[in-house]
Amino acid sequence: MNKNLHKLFVISSPSGGGKTSLLKAFFEDEKAKNLIMSISYTTRKKREGDEEGKDYFFVSRDEFKIKEKNNDFLESANVFGNFYGTDKNFIFSKLKFSDVILELDWQGAESIKKIFKESILISLIPPSYQDLENRLRGRALDTDKTITKRLSESKIEVSKCLTFDFLILNDDFEKALLDLKDIIFKKLNPKEFKSRVTDDLLKNLLD
Ligand code: 5GP
Repeated sequence: MNKNLHKLFVISSPSGGGKTSLLKAFFEDEKAKNLIMSISYTTRKKREGDEEGKDYFFVSRDEFKIKEKNNDFLESANVFGNFYGTDKNFIFSKLKFSDVILELDWQGAESIKKIFKESILISLIPPSYQDLENRLRGRALDTDKTITKRLSESKIEVSKCLTFDFLILNDDFEKALLDLKDIIFKKLNPKEFKSRVTDDLLKNLLD
């Protein structure tokens, strides 16, 4: 990555992994006020509570395709049957002045790491798949079919965390939030971070 640019953090987790709530709490910290959260484009239908231009820019498939053709995306991917893309201009303009956080699936994380070798990939690991299911059902925003689809892909997302720089265990909201703040505010090196994700847990999740 160009040395003049600030840091780019990518946060990924399986669906229901809790990244949105964690990031919301993270941005309530005074120290996060100079950090920028990227807003992606998506063809996904708006869910209850979603705000245009805050959560996403909601576009049709045709509009998405035009943006893709115009090379407007830094990366884009089909996630659970909908398209999502990161606005290239937004990222480059913001990185000149501040650190930027992206919330992406594993495909997006891999693409960003190829473009920005110094980007920092953070994966939120659930204590169990049951925990993901409880969260997806508890938030009651998706249909049964959508929840099943999202859960069926969670193992792939977990398997991809092995190449990430930091693994945060999201078994306890406050602990996970502290871990995230440590990594981002203290600009920790992966070797300085004591992850609570054990080899046994990963083995169980990947078996
Ligand atoms: P959701 O529909 O629940 O908001 O997001 C579904 C998944 O798409 C999440 O894993 C989220 O991190 C990911 N996602 C959101 N925006 C982007 C993007 O611009 N690119 C990629 N690759 N994934 C994204």
